[in-house]
Amino acid sequence: MSLVQTLLRDDLRGFTGYASARRSAAEGRVWLNANESPWPNRADREGVAQRYPSPQPAALRDVLARLYGVMPPQLLLGRGSDEAIDLLLRAFCRAGRDAVVIAPPVFGMYAVCARLQGAALIEVPLHDSDAGFIADTEAMADAALASGARLLFLCSPANPTGAAVPQEAIHTMLDRLAGRCLVVVDEAYVEYAEQPSVARLIDRYENLVVLRTLSKAHALAAARIGCLLASAELVAVLRDCQAPYPMPTPCVELALAALEDDALSQTRERVAIVRRERERVRAALTGLPGVRRVYRSEGNYLLVRFADADDALQRLLATGVVVRDMRAQVQLGDALRISIGAPTDNDALLLALRGGPG
Ligand SMILES: *Cc1c(COP(=O)(O)O)cnc(C)c1O
Repeated sequence: MSLVQTLLRDDLRGFTGYASARRSAAEGRVWLNANESPWPNRADREGVAQRYPSPQPAALRDVLARLYGVMPPQLLLGRGSDEAIDLLLRAFCRAGRDAVVIAPPVFGMYAVCARLQGAALIEVPLHDSDAGFIADTEAMADAALASGARLLFLCSPANPTGAAVPQEAIHTMLDRLAGRCLVVVDEAYVEYAEQPSVARLIDRYENLVVLRTLSKAHALAAARIGCLLASAELVAVLRDCQAPYPMPTPCVELALAALEDDALSQTRERVAIVRRERERVRAALTGLPGVRRVYRSEGNYLLVRFADADDALQRLLATGVVVRDMRAQVQLGDALRISIGAPTDNDALLLALRGGPG
């Protein structure tokens, strides 16, 4: 049995999901199979919304597959990478029986989706060191093997802590968990990182899953477009578990426009600006009284420890600068996460934190 079939919930073997109208291969002239309206809505000037959309629009899938360096059947389009996380939990974890491994403090959706699915959460905390918050990938793999976990999430670069997981460590983990557990590398911020995506390893490791998104560097958070990259077999299984028509046509058209050459080169310039600003803000914050530590980051955010995080939050709020309070997360009782904005946004942040008392 293949790895995907071995790890798939046994009650989902042979499940093919909803047979939607757009799955029919028919070459129609008169479409009377989906109970749609025969006329576009008056508000829909370009008539893009009258018919149910393709579940996996080929044009967008092809462009993204090329951008990410995989074959189109190795890519699943979804409503943000959040949907991919949810689909993975639902397809591979039997409620009350299977587990997932995470390394907190980390992006909250892994735990949320695990909770919703009734999957146990095995936490192997990040290790706070001089080099930053480091994932103990060996301990994570040990925990996955000991518990028989179906999924292990690596966030790289990690949100909110900033470090990327070294590629050698990912290789080692993929080898150790071969045939046993899926390793999900969430690369929501990889455009801002030094090291490249691990997507090119998909042909080599059938237990590798990579998550990418258009929400961050590509500035399309509201369009809700994310991708899961994995073996074609895994992608096909998740497609059967996904909603019948997940990709709204107006969002798909916007994404296609955002991936044309001019838009892509502007995106790359802006990523470069954010990376420069990240280092400028990091240096400026490091020297401020009341700032205890600024972690190096390969994302578009900085994790900062304050002597008095509440005071910093209040000062920022008083000038209308909103940052993310991280104090409820383990190991982060004095920390805020600050997204890198445009240069003027970052100036406003620094000014508010520099300003005298009150
Ligand atoms: C923002 C974020 C996502 C979610 O991205 P969407 O594609 O907008 O759902 C996924 N993973 C991490 C680590 C994130 O920070």
